Amino acid sequence: MKIGIIGLGLMGGSLALDLTRLGYEVIGVSRQLSTCNIAFDRAIVSRASVDLEILAQTDLIFICTPIASILPTLERLIKYLPPHVVITDVGSVKGSIVPQATELWSNFVGSHPMAGTANQGIEAVESNLFKNAPCVITPLENTPEKNVEIVKKIWQEVGCKIYMSSPETHDRAVAWISHLPVMISANLINSCVNHENQEVVNLAKNLASSGFKDTSRVGGGNPELGLMMAQYNKAQLLNSLKEYQQNLSSIIEDIEQEKWSILEDILNKTQQERPNFLC
Ligand code: NAP
Repeated sequence: MKIGIIGLGLMGGSLALDLTRLGYEVIGVSRQLSTCNIAFDRAIVSRASVDLEILAQTDLIFICTPIASILPTLERLIKYLPPHVVITDVGSVKGSIVPQATELWSNFVGSHPMAGTANQGIEAVESNLFKNAPCVITPLENTPEKNVEIVKKIWQEVGCKIYMSSPETHDRAVAWISHLPVMISANLINSCVNHENQEVVNLAKNLASSGFKDTSRVGGGNPELGLMMAQYNKAQLLNSLKEYQQNLSSIIEDIEQEKWSILEDILNKTQQERPNFLC
């Protein structure tokens, strides 16, 4: 099977490297010629080009560009392909991609491998990035089962654990465990920095230790990624933020009214539940 990969950055390059090592013929396309040359020189791909036409003979194509480029790339790509080619993507949101992509190309299957590092671009490529990572496949009702199986098999070969979901349920789940935490964590940093008493802020900066390091990590990351989450998963992120706001209001009330046993129950429950999110 010949595999095409578009966008030779962290995700696309790492996937290309693993698939090349597994013995697949992998053909890469990226925006910059310099990236294509690096991918070829480092044996990440067997051929690479800035021109999508190079993918005309492939059987399966992964679109691994930033989210905003996925649909425009698909639109430019399909004129070079015979109809049987299966196309998937690795975008972190699915509801704003999968239905439109399926209208453009009926052999499209959405997927989202939940792996990554804080780094970007071809220099960030890592082998075994996907080992033991969850990968969500998000078919629609009319997505052919044989295409789902093709995409599933490749993700399993690079070590992913597969989960199936609709695009909407996927977006709701990632809003809770990925996009909402970024907003809460960013708001934590922002609120500390904007506090009116500068002496307190300065002392807090010096005292901040492991607890603040954990709770502020995702809010102090790449601003483009946070913005992308809000833009492309707007509805589900807003739902989570509003539900979170309601829960926060009731915690404020509990503390104001000194309802310590209710607060204790909540903290006992969260202590019990946290490991279930990290297994
Ligand atoms: P990345 O490291 O920045 O890689 C994306 C690469 O795509 C860039 O290096 C760029 O390569 C290339 N590119 C940009 N626009 C392009 C275009 N129009 N045509 C062809 N190539 C193009 O980003 P990434 O972290 O791999 O993310 C890629 C996708 O994976 C995103 O959709 C994201 O939602 C998804 N994802 C990311 C993570 C994560 O943790 N990073 C996790 C799961 C899913 P050049 O060097 O040629 O400019």
